[in-house]
Amino acid sequence: MVVQSGSTVQPSPVADPEVLEAYRHDASPVIGNPEGLLRPQTAAEAAFWLAEAAGSGTAVTPCGLRSSTTGSGLAPHGWVMSCERMTGLIDLDPERRTATVASGTVLREFKDAVEEHGLFYPPDPTSEGECSLGGTVACDASGARTYRYGATHRWLRGVEVALPDGSVRWFRKRRSDKDATGYAGMRDLVQLMCGSEGTLGFISKVEVDLIAKPEAFTAGFAFFVDVASALSFVGLARDEDRARSGVRPRCLELLDGPCLEIMRAQGSGIAIPASAGAVIFFEEEHAAGGDMDVLERWWALLERSPGALPDDTAVATDRRQQEELRTLRHAVPATLNEEGHSFAPSGGKKISTDWAVPFAELAPLMSRIDAWIAEAGLSRTARFGHVGNGHPHYNLIVRDAAEAAVAHELVGRMCAEACAVGGTISAEHGVGKVKRNYVHHRFGELELAAMKAVKGVFDPASILAPGNLFPE
Ligand SMILES: Cc1cc2nc3c(=O)[nH]c(=O)nc-3n(C[C@H](O)[C@H](O)[C@H](O)COP(=O)(O)OP(=O)(O)OC[C@H]3O[C@@H](n4cnc5c(N)ncnc54)[C@H](O)[C@@H]3O)c2cc1C
Repeated sequence: MVVQSGSTVQPSPVADPEVLEAYRHDASPVIGNPEGLLRPQTAAEAAFWLAEAAGSGTAVTPCGLRSSTTGSGLAPHGWVMSCERMTGLIDLDPERRTATVASGTVLREFKDAVEEHGLFYPPDPTSEGECSLGGTVACDASGARTYRYGATHRWLRGVEVALPDGSVRWFRKRRSDKDATGYAGMRDLVQLMCGSEGTLGFISKVEVDLIAKPEAFTAGFAFFVDVASALSFVGLARDEDRARSGVRPRCLELLDGPCLEIMRAQGSGIAIPASAGAVIFFEEEHAAGGDMDVLERWWALLERSPGALPDDTAVATDRRQQEELRTLRHAVPATLNEEGHSFAPSGGKKISTDWAVPFAELAPLMSRIDAWIAEAGLSRTARFGHVGNGHPHYNLIVRDAAEAAVAHELVGRMCAEACAVGGTISAEHGVGKVKRNYVHHRFGELELAAMKAVKGVFDPASILAPGNLFPE
């Protein structure tokens, strides 16, 4: 079967249950049920299969490397279409600082490739070694450095997309400084594709903006007696008037007391003071040799922050030390995941949140939520995440199905409160199948109807990514 200029398509979707088994799972508790697997090598091949599917009314769920925590890349029925065979850097323009990359490329591999040319792609989800560029666009992924650099959508220039009408299209952002033509939210269809979670089309190529690779950066763990004082410090460090704050963070991340216990148990060389009840992980970029100046300014800020333990600050100025801090931080989610899995036989698990609020609302909301958790009697909670962006992850470890029901009710309440104060239910992992029943907190009926109408334009037969994003 020939699609265009000699490229062939796979003769039929793979139906071998042993092959399909891997496509039934991602990083969420959801289990998929794909009936066939497509692994197109070109956009034209993807478009061919999408048109076939639209003609026969077969559902198609696009997927990347299946690191989603929301089950969004899992097919409840029909076919799953993976971009894993579309890999590699297609074009790099160091002058314009842009790159075009195939959607199945692992994000970390892409970042390493551009860094060899002295360039830098800022989005940094913790999963960067296990997720695809296409997946990060479809979920509008972000990470610790989003505090300084924003999420994936800010770095997108364009996307090539295969659509169910059998066409392949490029959507690109306008490059003029100003534009007053049409609905501001729809001037760039590329932004519609970002966060679409597979519901609008299959992304085959991604064009992004790059910046010069920062010369150097300093990272540190600043310890505090409790979470409240750590959050007050973050408020000071966020002050955009640098004459007052003295610092220019690129990330501001919280780890609470239970996270510190996990870090202590790793037995690393980094001393964690016994009196600490929270830590803020920070990074600041600077010119080579500028580390002492940066550290002095962080110390000065810590010294005037109530509840800080400035003398215990652990700093990392070289690559080995920075890796040590990073490894220690990453041990926390890994350990909590294992704890959650250990309760699976009795119906227990880890239930985590992804809501975010304006920073000014964060401390009061967290103290309300902590009171609800104590009242509900849940025994194990750990909080970490991107507090500089008002985005902590609550991790509730539940031991059985009864505790899970309590935790799910609490998460619903957190989402409602977050939206009530101007926040959102998902700040980076997306909605998928796990959070779609909280979507009504975020969007009213009119907004959902508008989104469904847009989906109807791209996917009139409604074959794409059933079960994602929209409430049941
Ligand atoms: C340990 C761990 C840490 C994580 N940390 C972060 C984090 O810090 N920040 C963050 O944002 N996320 C994080 N995630 C979530 C996840 O890695 C991201 O959502 C990532 O963007 C998913 O990419 P993927 O390639 O694995 O996509 P998949 O999981 O395969 O799919 C995710 C969604 O993208 C759609 N999709 C994938 N490829 C395409 C395509 N080519 N065309 C159209 N739609 C497509 C799918 O339909 C689905 O809706 C983490 C996950 C894990 C397991």
